Amino acid sequence: VEALQIKWSKAPCRFCGTGCGVMVGVKDGHVVATHGDMQAEVNRGLNCVKGYFLSKIMYGKDRLTTPLMRKRAGVYDKDGEFEPVSWDEAFAVMAEQCKRVLREKGPEAVGMFGSGQWTIFEGYAATKLMRAGFRSNNLDPNARHCMASAAYAFMRTFGMDEPMGCYDDFEHADAFVLWGSNMAEMHPILWTRVADRRLGHPNVKCAVLSTFTHRSMDLADIPIIFKPGTDLAILNYIAHHIIATGRVNEAFVRDHAVFMRGQTGIGYGLRPDNPLEQNASGAAEAGKMEPIDFEAFKAHVAQYTLEKVSELSGVEPGFLHDLAELYADPDIKVMSLWTMGFNQHVRGVWANQMVYNIHLLTGKISEPGNSPFSLTGQPSACGTAREVGTFAHRLPADMMVTNPEHRKHAEEIWKLPHGLLPEKPGFHAVEQDRMLHDGRLNFYWVQVNNNVQAAPNSSNETYPGYRNPDNFVVVSDAYPTVTALSADIILPAAMWVEKEGAYGNAERRTHIWHQLVNAPGEARSDVWQLVEFSRRFTTDEVWPAEILDTNPDYRGKTLFDVLFRNGKVDRFPLSELDPEYSNDEANDFGFYLQKGLFEEYAEFGRGHGHDLAPYDTYHEVRGLRWPVVDGQETKWRYREGLDPYVKQGEGVKFYGRPDGRAVILAVPYEPPAESPDDEYDVWLVTGRVLEHWHSGSMTMRVPELYKAFPGAVCFMNADDARRRGINQGAEVRVASRRGEIRVRVETRGRNRMPQGVVFIPWFDASRLINKVTLDATDPISKQTDFKKCAVKIVPA
Ligand code: SF4
Repeated sequence: VEALQIKWSKAPCRFCGTGCGVMVGVKDGHVVATHGDMQAEVNRGLNCVKGYFLSKIMYGKDRLTTPLMRKRAGVYDKDGEFEPVSWDEAFAVMAEQCKRVLREKGPEAVGMFGSGQWTIFEGYAATKLMRAGFRSNNLDPNARHCMASAAYAFMRTFGMDEPMGCYDDFEHADAFVLWGSNMAEMHPILWTRVADRRLGHPNVKCAVLSTFTHRSMDLADIPIIFKPGTDLAILNYIAHHIIATGRVNEAFVRDHAVFMRGQTGIGYGLRPDNPLEQNASGAAEAGKMEPIDFEAFKAHVAQYTLEKVSELSGVEPGFLHDLAELYADPDIKVMSLWTMGFNQHVRGVWANQMVYNIHLLTGKISEPGNSPFSLTGQPSACGTAREVGTFAHRLPADMMVTNPEHRKHAEEIWKLPHGLLPEKPGFHAVEQDRMLHDGRLNFYWVQVNNNVQAAPNSSNETYPGYRNPDNFVVVSDAYPTVTALSADIILPAAMWVEKEGAYGNAERRTHIWHQLVNAPGEARSDVWQLVEFSRRFTTDEVWPAEILDTNPDYRGKTLFDVLFRNGKVDRFPLSELDPEYSNDEANDFGFYLQKGLFEEYAEFGRGHGHDLAPYDTYHEVRGLRWPVVDGQETKWRYREGLDPYVKQGEGVKFYGRPDGRAVILAVPYEPPAESPDDEYDVWLVTGRVLEHWHSGSMTMRVPELYKAFPGAVCFMNADDARRRGINQGAEVRVASRRGEIRVRVETRGRNRMPQGVVFIPWFDASRLINKVTLDATDPISKQTDFKKCAVKIVPA
C-alpha cells in the first residue's frame, strides 16, 4: 500500500443508518478504494456489498458538474431546455423567484425538502435559513416518509427522541424479535451481530414477523407471516398474555410508567377528505392521550385473545404464544427491532408505542440486552433529520415550533429578534406535494432527495406539482435523478468525502469526517449552496417591518450576516483547520463554517440530555454516543449507573417527561386505509433490496451493484401467477386506482410471497412503483404507508 502511495482516512459509510466505519483510500485526488474499518465498533472491519463499492459512487458517467437552468431564448423559461449557467446566474434567478413569492404570497408559499442524507451542518443551516431567514416552517425531510412515526412515538412515550439502548445490546440479548424488518438485507452488518449471537449461543431465540418470507426468516426460530396491518392486534395480544399470566413487573410499572388511552377514529389523510388546513389541527387531535388506570388497560387488551388474534392475523396460535413468552418470561432479555414495517404504517406511531408497552409492562428496557430498538434507514436520519430540527414541526434538540419558550430559546441562541420565528407548523412531505400540485407552494428547494421517485401516488400528485407553471422548483443533486429532471434549476452537489461532514446513526453515535477529495467541476456542497444563497437577501426584503422597527440594528443586513456571520458561527478561524485536508467551504467563507455551525447547534443540547463532545474530538474517534458528559459517551439511557442524567437513588428515570414516567398506551387494532377487493385483489408491499440503496441514484451507477440487481421485479406467489396465466419471468401490469407500471414477475428467488401479496422494490427509476402506491398517512406523525395498498396484476 505504501508503494501505491494511497492515503487512508476514516469516514462513515454514505448509505444506511447503521453507520459503519470505513477507511477511504485516496490517490491523485481520487477515491480509489474503501474497506471496513477494523477500529469501528459498529462493523468491526465488515461492510455490506454496498459499502464495499463506496469508492465508485462518485464517479458515475453522468455526474452533474455545473448548474443547469431551463431556458429559452437566453432567459429562464419553465418550458425551456436545461442549459449550463454560472452559480451567479442560477442564484440570481432563484433569489428573484423566491423574493417574488415572498412578496406576493408570503412565507407559507416557500418551502424546502431535505433528508437524513444531509450532514448535520447542512440540515442545521437549512433550518436556520428557512425558519429564521424566510420565516417559513415548510421545511421537512424525507424522514417524514421514513422515521416520523418512530420520532413521534419516542416523544409521546419518553418525552425525548431516539433509542435508550445501543448496538452493544446485540451481545447481551437472549432473544431478538424483528417486527416487519428484513435486517438480513436492509441492515446486513447489524444482522451479522444478530446471527453471531444466535448461532453462537444455542439458547438464544430469534422471532421474525413479516407479511412475506424473506432472507431474515432463515434464522427464525419463530417465523411469523401475518396479514398486513394486523401487527397491531398481535402487540395487544402480547400485552394481554403478559397480564393474564401474571408476569407484569409490578414494581417497575408502579414506579416508572403511567397508563393512557389514545384518540381513535381519525382518518388517514387521503384527498378529498383531508383539506390542507387540517394538517396542524388534525395532528393535534389525533395525538391526544387521556389518562387511564391499569385496570382499564387490562380490560382493553383482554379483548385480544389468542383465538381472536390468530384468526385476524392468520398466524398459528402456537407461534403467537411462543412469541409472547419471549416477552413474558422474566429470565429472557429481549431486543425488539423494527424499521419501515412499523413506521410506514397508517398506525405507525401506535405500533411503535405498543412495542414500548410490552417492554415497559415487563421492565425490559434501558439495560444491556433489554432494548426496544428503532433502526434507521438514512445515514443521518437521527443526527440530521431529527436532532437538528428539520421536521416541519420541530426546532433543534427535540424542541417544537408551537412552543413559545422553545422559539424564544432558539432566538436567543441564534441572536435573533424575539418574535421572528413562525409558530405555525409547516406542511409535511405529502402535503407539500399537494400544495405544489395545487399551486400553493411556489418556491421549492429540494436537496439530497429524489422525491418524485420516492413519494407516494407520484404521477397524480408529486410530478404534476413540480411541473405546475405557478411553481419554481430547484433541485440540488449529484446526478440527474427523475426529481432533478422535473425541476427548473438543477444545482450540482458535492458528495460524501468531497466535503467535510458529520452524521448521527441509529444508536445516537455522532461521527465526523474530513474532506478527502475535490468535487468535480463546479459541484459544491449543500451547506455551501445554502450559506452562499443567503447572501442574496437582506433583512428588509424578507422580514416584517414591525420586527425591524423594534430591532433597527438588524436593518439592511444580509441573511448571511445575521444567520452565519453573527459571532457564533464565524468564531473559529481558518487556522483551526487540519492542514492535511482540504475544506472548500471554510476557505470560501473565511472561517471554519462546519465547526461553527456544529458548536452553535451543540448549545441546544448541552445540559439538556443531548450533550455532544467538542467538535475536534470527533475527528480523533470513531464516533461517540450522546449524551457525552465529562468526555464519556452514554450507551444506555434512563438507568442509574449507566446514564449520567440519572442521579444516585433514582434507579430508572424517564427524564424527558415531567413526571419521569413513560407512557403505556391503550390503542386498538384499526384496519388499513385500503384493502384488496374484487377488482384490486392483491396487497402491494414496497421496500428495498440488499444491493440498492433507496432510489438507486448512487448504487445503480456502480456497475457491480447494477449488474447484481439491474431492475425491479414483482415478487409473486407461484399459484397466484398460475391462476392468472402468468409465467415466471413474464411482464405484467401492476395497477392500482392511482396508476400502473409494467414489470417482470419473479415467483422464485430471495422473497417467497404468500398468496395475495406481492413485493416490488422502489429503486428502479425506469419502473416507478410509487405511481401505484397510496398517499395515506398516519394521523399523528403524517408518515406515509408504503406497505399496504390494493393492486391488480394482469398479463401485459
Ligand atoms: Fe454498513 Fe449500511 Fe453501509 Fe452496508 S450500507 S456498509 S450496512 S452503513
